[in-house]
Amino acid sequence: MEDIVGLCKRRGFIFASSEIYGGYNGFYDYGPLGVELRNNIKQAWWRDFVHRRDDIEGLDSSIIMHPKIWKASGHVDGFSDPLVDCKESKKRYRADQLFFAPVILDGEQVGYVAFVEGTDSASIIKRAKKVRDHLDKKQATLDEAALGNDRTEFTEATAEQRAQTLGPDASKVDTLTAPREFKLMFETKVGPLADDSAVAYLRPETAQGIFANYKNIVDTGRVKIPFGIAQIGKAFRNEITPRNFIFRSREFEQMEIEYFIAPEADWQALHREWLDTCIDWLVSIGLPREDITEDVHPTEKLAFYSQATTDLMFHFPHGEQELWGIACRSDYDLKQHQTHSGKSMEIFDEASKSKYVPHVIEPSLGVDRTLLAVLTAAYCEDEVPNDKGQVEKRTVMKFSPKIAPVKAAIFPLLKNKPELVDVAEKLYKKLQRRWNVFYDASGAIGRRYRRQDEIGTPFGITIDFDTIEKDGTVTLRDRDTCEQRRVTEAELIEFLEEQIDG
Ligand code: ATP
Repeated sequence: MEDIVGLCKRRGFIFASSEIYGGYNGFYDYGPLGVELRNNIKQAWWRDFVHRRDDIEGLDSSIIMHPKIWKASGHVDGFSDPLVDCKESKKRYRADQLFFAPVILDGEQVGYVAFVEGTDSASIIKRAKKVRDHLDKKQATLDEAALGNDRTEFTEATAEQRAQTLGPDASKVDTLTAPREFKLMFETKVGPLADDSAVAYLRPETAQGIFANYKNIVDTGRVKIPFGIAQIGKAFRNEITPRNFIFRSREFEQMEIEYFIAPEADWQALHREWLDTCIDWLVSIGLPREDITEDVHPTEKLAFYSQATTDLMFHFPHGEQELWGIACRSDYDLKQHQTHSGKSMEIFDEASKSKYVPHVIEPSLGVDRTLLAVLTAAYCEDEVPNDKGQVEKRTVMKFSPKIAPVKAAIFPLLKNKPELVDVAEKLYKKLQRRWNVFYDASGAIGRRYRRQDEIGTPFGITIDFDTIEKDGTVTLRDRDTCEQRRVTEAELIEFLEEQIDG
């Protein structure tokens, strides 16, 4: 993770928000290359799920909506996380991401250590030894296996257990409070009155904007069951513990689809179909198939209205974590809005000649998490020969050409030869009309290649003497294999089209 964060800052992908004021926890800014990568991910998603499908329509709803929407959806009353405070360190933890394990000395349980999700076992053992030292039992044997195997979520800790627990950042036991519900929606006030009637919320998900517009889209008359509505947009959550870089932030972006189906449809088969479609899409933008796994939520942990939820997990630098949630949400949301708004959410199904409130499958993906997954998968350190044939270390971002921030770099072999520069500039201007390409005339050619490797530009195009004196062909270099071949301009454009837009 440190390498990725370092490269992101150094090469202008991602900065901490408000950095000149020391940063602002949970917020990030995307620099010149970051905004390109981010836009490319969103465009690839929109293209594949909206433009290239006949059954999904797009939408862009407002961020602040009528507060009644959040009442109907259940967010006002129920969108919260269990919060635990440490009275000593003043740190806060999400109880469902905090665990505790028994400290057993010479076979006798003497207390507990608490640690956050993802803490390595060496650090947990170190903390347990602290408890041992405090108890003045330095010679006692610590049961290390129990620390690894016998962990419980802190939401389940009894008052007695809490009183014997050493918090993750505390120096003594009994500093952690009982979990209490912490509301995640950001509140604001709308209009000139500052009283409670003016309270509104920054949306914590884009999905409700889709449900609130479902009727408008059905009434526009272009859709028939099954169909989806897709939306990309910002969402805001006052996360208790934003961490792991852009993985969990307070302002982020979502790409969500509500896919409406008939109540009697085989939702299990459709859910499986959606999981496969989503996995294929992640692979199409360059994530390795073997780094994607499925986490099926156990039935007893599902919300009462939910029929099934499976998360697609990705192997992030901080562990295997949720990337894409794919939930079968029954007709719950539409029925809630039907009740609260008094407007019918029924659709007339031409095929079955019946009227009903449809059920829904919801694939919900974070833009920022996808970007972190893409950065993780692309980051690579390898060794390649330089101009003189000596092997050199390089950092290379192996982005898929579909989403790479810069698609190709154009280099005249020498910057002081106007004949080379002219041809190179002409080609640059031509390609620039279609793609984000880069022109670089300065420095040794090897060094120019290396700069592009580090930002993940998949193709290098060099204009050399053969171009101007012989046949007009250019050298096309592949970032990953470093292989070079000569191609004509027509071949070059056809190749780029296939690789970038295919
Ligand atoms: P978590 O359990 O990690 O808090 P969640 O299950 O509440 O996430 P959903 O409400 O299902 O997440 O949101 C759908 C998707 O939106 C997630 O799979 C993730 O990609 C993204 N997402 C959710 N919260 C955040 C966040 N705080 N920062 C970045 N992306 C997020």
